[in-house]
Amino acid sequence: MTVLLNVKDLRAYYGQVQALHGLSFSLNEGSLTTLLGANGAGKTTTLRAICNMVRSTGGIEFDGKPLNNRSTESIVRFGIAHVPQGRGTFTTMTVEENLQLGAITRKDSAGIVSDIERMYAHFPVLKQRHTQQAGTLSGGEQQMLAVARALMLRPRLMLLDEPSFGLAPLVVRDLFGILGKINREDKVSILVVEQNAQLALELADQAYVIETGRIVMSGNAKDIANNEEIRKSYLGY
Ligand code: ATP
Repeated sequence: MTVLLNVKDLRAYYGQVQALHGLSFSLNEGSLTTLLGANGAGKTTTLRAICNMVRSTGGIEFDGKPLNNRSTESIVRFGIAHVPQGRGTFTTMTVEENLQLGAITRKDSAGIVSDIERMYAHFPVLKQRHTQQAGTLSGGEQQMLAVARALMLRPRLMLLDEPSFGLAPLVVRDLFGILGKINREDKVSILVVEQNAQLALELADQAYVIETGRIVMSGNAKDIANNEEIRKSYLGY
């Protein structure tokens, strides 16, 4: 198996506050990996460090090349798409305009048109609402649009920050089902940060648990989900 993302001894800082304390993990090409942990454990900071949005030291390699201190644009060019918490769609633009904006760095107009159709196939509700302003969509629909817009970059790796946040359980199941399909069919590797460990472990193949800025547990997602002792000690369910 090829390692696509390799994070080694990552330390991250907000001013004087150290949020990550030597965090190491890796993600295999094609995998759907989850980072689990309680509020404040450092999940969001890990994604932000990968995207160089917070000051950090340590090694971050993507496809064997160092990512540290690269601009956001060059990280995007490497094929990494980040869906931050809180979605961040352009609320006064239509669904379709949001998808077109996602492809802003691309020049292949025929490919863009066919990818928009592909997104509508993954997320039929976005097709129904393609002329609607993004701000008028439900929370679940906005999250779907944020994911679809990120995929318009044709990323090799998608970083998702807490996609289940604020969504009803049925909507989350629907969204996670589509994420699994995108991972398998479109061969997009996915790193998903989640507080909802139970659901994330159903979706992922690999899992890591973060506590106060360090990895304290890792393994095959199904093995962790089936191990009551580990679940109780590390995941609280
Ligand atoms: P959540 O699920 O609440 O987002 P998290 O696991 O993603 O939690 P982070 O947001 O990465 O955790 O936070 C890790 C640590 O860094 C916490 O102690 C938090 O208080 C601190 N932190 C996060 N953002 C800032 C900031 N802008 N300034 C100072 N400290 C911060």
